Amino acid sequence: MQVVAKRIECPNCGADLNITDTKCRYCKSAVTITSMADIDAFSMPQINKYIGSYNRRLAADATDGQAAMSVGMCFL
Ligand SMILES: [Zn+2]
Repeated sequence: MQVVAKRIECPNCGADLNITDTKCRYCKSAVTITSMADIDAFSMPQINKYIGSYNRRLAADATDGQAAMSVGMCFL
């Protein structure tokens, strides 16, 4: 049986990451937003970039709970 690791892109720089990564190994940005504190330091364009990235993840996999939660945080 072949194990296919799920790939995601860094919301900030677009790097190819594992779904299990919490921080981008290239630009050190948070991959998944888990609290409002993560967003506090973000600029508006950066938040929009993250929202776009999560929307693409949700379009590819509507059951991606991490992306759904993160995009919800962005809109708060
Ligand atoms: Zn990155």
